Amino acid sequence: MTDMCKLEEKNMSAIDLVSEINRLRRERKAVILAHNYQLPEVQDIADFVGDSLGLSQQAAKTQAEVIVFCGVHFMAETASILSPTKTVLIPDLGAGCSLAQSITAEELMKWKVEHPGATVVSYVNTTAEVKALSDYCCTSGNAVKVVESIPREQEILFLPDRYLGQYVETVAKRPLHIWGGACHVHAKILDEEMETARLAHPDADILVHPECGCSTTCMLKSLHQTSGQKMFIYSTEGMLKHVEKSDAKEFLIATEVGIIHRLHKQFPDRRFYPLSPNAVCEYMKMITLPKVYETLRDMKFEVKVEASLAAKARLPVERMITIV
Ligand code: SF4
Repeated sequence: MTDMCKLEEKNMSAIDLVSEINRLRRERKAVILAHNYQLPEVQDIADFVGDSLGLSQQAAKTQAEVIVFCGVHFMAETASILSPTKTVLIPDLGAGCSLAQSITAEELMKWKVEHPGATVVSYVNTTAEVKALSDYCCTSGNAVKVVESIPREQEILFLPDRYLGQYVETVAKRPLHIWGGACHVHAKILDEEMETARLAHPDADILVHPECGCSTTCMLKSLHQTSGQKMFIYSTEGMLKHVEKSDAKEFLIATEVGIIHRLHKQFPDRRFYPLSPNAVCEYMKMITLPKVYETLRDMKFEVKVEASLAAKARLPVERMITIV
């Protein structure tokens, strides 16, 4: 039975659903965190909407007893690592991440053996087991700064995203060993799509997430601005900051389409176009309002990282939220 059928069966309107979520949120002393890629209606009921870094910071400092994480599984795990005494819930346990699945703890252990003494920098899109084997975690928003904080002579293993790795390598101007993983949504955003969209919106600023398949070409273009059009590589929060200070009226956005809702809401006088309308993460879209309601009602599904594993993963994650 679909979420909407269940809703109809209970004869609960969307308005009732939102008021029930609000009632339960107060009753459970819960905070609702939503990622920028969540469905618009989920973003609208959240206490905080942001990227992985922003949400991790909120999870670390919240006074709430319960964290409802509207995002994917590794994000809820990160919240549990940072707030071990809180109850962390995810509305759908199936909300995974192809990028986080692209490296296992066993594969990382093998890679470390091949590079003894190397420092491991893991993108936050990894499992708790991989984080526990890492020296630093980072997000797309602070990956360059994290790498720059490590002595230049130190060998670095960067994982799992190859596009983000190439971006960091170029901007930080130092060689990295880069794992070959990728996000199936961002990897599909390619140069050809960029060219078509660019020609259709010649006055738009182009904002590209470093996980995108086109990011390497875009990075070169942004460094040299060969097309005459302004092109920038940003995390999702970086995109919002850019729009705030830009004079442009139109923006082409190369990342998962969910961010467009927040951009429209925050900047109603500007126009935003997804560079690839098909860049939709089916995992992020698994979280729906009825599921958020059921999560709060039934206090399901808890994501709890086992204590000894969480203790090992905490230092790299804490480094990530302090290097901004
Ligand atoms: S958009 Fe890609 S990186 Fe983000 S959650 Fe979905 S699969 Fe993972």
